[in-house]
Amino acid sequence: MSVAENLGEIIKTIPAHVQLVAISKTKPVEVVLEAYQAGQRVFGENKVQEMVAKQEAMPKDIQWHLVGHLQTNKIKYIIPFVSLIHSVDSQKLLEAIDKEAGKKSRVVDCLLQVHIAQEETKFGFDRNELLTLVNSGALASYSSVRVVGLMGMASFTDSQSQVRSEFRGLQQLFLEMKPIFGNLFTQISMGMSGDYLLAIEEGSTMVRVGSSIFGERNYPV
Ligand SMILES: *Cc1c(COP(=O)(O)O)cnc(C)c1O
Repeated sequence: MSVAENLGEIIKTIPAHVQLVAISKTKPVEVVLEAYQAGQRVFGENKVQEMVAKQEAMPKDIQWHLVGHLQTNKIKYIIPFVSLIHSVDSQKLLEAIDKEAGKKSRVVDCLLQVHIAQEETKFGFDRNELLTLVNSGALASYSSVRVVGLMGMASFTDSQSQVRSEFRGLQQLFLEMKPIFGNLFTQISMGMSGDYLLAIEEGSTMVRVGSSIFGERNYPV
């Protein structure tokens, strides 16, 4: 099936309150444009350089989301255009984004990435670190970032029940944090090609789907 056909099939399965972020990492501009021409306007990348290059090459009404780990020295390259950073995995990074966004007089929306998987390698806050951030009072001092929700990646496993329980845990944490973060705190980014339907059942508001739209990637990222 073509990219446009894949996209059409996926959109049919996604309720209106859930946003589809098309993860275009490793795919060339011509291929990503097929999704654009089919109407998709929200794209996600996991590497700064690749996102910058595609942003320059592609139509300017695209909303670009960063979903991969962000190094502080690269923040400045995405600040002018990024519409949401899903992968804020430390207070230090949040502070650095606030600083860079301030320099450009931008306010940048961010999600805090929460470690929900069993694997050791995934980045992110755990519940205690989130509470530490909240209790530090630091959030009130940031004028150029807005924390609009949480993001998580489930374990890479065949166990549906484990994935479901990890998503459920993230939703519970979201509900616990919502009164503290306030009205802007509305998004739960969870679910990828293999598990986005499960994620939606467990309260996802944003799914990040790559290979089901664009096909398998040729190299691991
Ligand atoms: C690559 C990636 C996705 C998309 O994964 P697929 O399985 O191809 O849908 C989603 N989220 C993040 C953070 C990614 O790096």
